[in-house]
Amino acid sequence: MATLQFLGATGTVTGSKYLLTTDSERALVDCGLFQGLKELRRRNWDPFPADPESIHRVLLTHAHIDHVGYLPKLRKGGFSGEIWGTTPTTEICRLVLPDSGHLQEEEAKFANKKGYSKHSPALPLYTEKEAQEVLPLLKPVEYEKEYVLAEGVTCRYRDAGHILGSSTILISLKNQSPPITILFSGDLGRYGAPILRDPASVPEADYILLESTYGNRAHGTEDREEALASIIAETVKRGGTIVIPAFAVGRTQDLLYDLRILEDSRRIPILPVYMDRPMATSASEILARHPEYYDEEATALNNKGRNHIWPSNLHWCSTQQESKAVNQVTSPCVIIAASGMATGGRVLHHLKHRMTDPKNTLLFVGFQAQGTRGRLMLEGAKKIKIHGEEVPVKAQIQKIDSFSAHADYKEILRWVGGFTRPPKKAFIVHGEPEASQALAEKLRESVGWKCHIPAYLEAVLLE
Ligand SMILES: [Zn+2]
Repeated sequence: MATLQFLGATGTVTGSKYLLTTDSERALVDCGLFQGLKELRRRNWDPFPADPESIHRVLLTHAHIDHVGYLPKLRKGGFSGEIWGTTPTTEICRLVLPDSGHLQEEEAKFANKKGYSKHSPALPLYTEKEAQEVLPLLKPVEYEKEYVLAEGVTCRYRDAGHILGSSTILISLKNQSPPITILFSGDLGRYGAPILRDPASVPEADYILLESTYGNRAHGTEDREEALASIIAETVKRGGTIVIPAFAVGRTQDLLYDLRILEDSRRIPILPVYMDRPMATSASEILARHPEYYDEEATALNNKGRNHIWPSNLHWCSTQQESKAVNQVTSPCVIIAASGMATGGRVLHHLKHRMTDPKNTLLFVGFQAQGTRGRLMLEGAKKIKIHGEEVPVKAQIQKIDSFSAHADYKEILRWVGGFTRPPKKAFIVHGEPEASQALAEKLRESVGWKCHIPAYLEAVLLE
């Protein structure tokens, strides 16, 4: 008997967690935090739907916080098994998990100081120290190798092209009759994206959990560099500053890469670029350390010396003082800070300081989930609540979709085209309801797949 339960990423792009239970193995695939809408975030505090002690191991598709950020809480609940991910995934976890604990402590402290928390006192979901305690459980695995989870149960990681080290995971239950294979897509990357290789195709699986972040959208043909150049040029003309909320891992490195290309071709002036988050520094270092994960173009650039992938006038802000000093900069500059959906982190301080001035631009470069400040601003909100304060939005709000690290529906269908037979069923996950619906319909029409959109906590029997 094998069952699969959906503990997150149903009707939302956050909280990815899927529990696979067989007679000999209980594995959790991804262990992400819920973000965005309050009713979702509240689930992070609910008792875990299964006994964490009964879980043998966690398999990670990649190290974004909505896929790994719940690990310290699972550990606090009694989980003590191994956590498997590719080498870069485990290295990025070593950055993002303690950082996530640190941020939660800071936010709780801030809420208590300002007295805006409804809970008194406000508590962090976990602390930096508790996050550190998870790290010894991490175990690196490699792409394209078969690993044994339990007798008759194996798994294989393949490149998903989404961020460094991201993977699809195929689990084979050879001890079932007939044997069953289940593929977890994780987050799928884009074809032809900078630095990373394209998502590797998978020939077949009986069941597929397929992400649908952009299930109802195509990224369009906008030229990413052109769009970035014109937004920067216009803001500089007004004498303003460009604030870019970005995930510290992934898009930040692409942005730096593009800024340098634009500077070199003189399409933008050389501006001071402030990278506010020590973690992004280290994420860039991890990227530099793993050229074996690059595509051909980035390998060629790397062979020429990697220094020129960063803008010429780049400043890393690693301390809080350096971060605060950026507030004093009044001439045009670029500020990049996490988090990417403005749900927390240092970008909130920069937004608060810059968003009330119409000269400035707030530029969004990644998917903005429902209920996040990023989404509210893109939808035209006139005021945004930051640290308990209503702050007016007067700056220009812009977005560039083509920086997205997610495949759009056309790219998902291209990846699906790599299958040699349809699965028994595709579970459409990791999408807001309209996006999942749209992708399910496209799959039914174009390849005749049987699709199901699971509900939160739904459990299915795999036969
Ligand atoms: Zn991701």
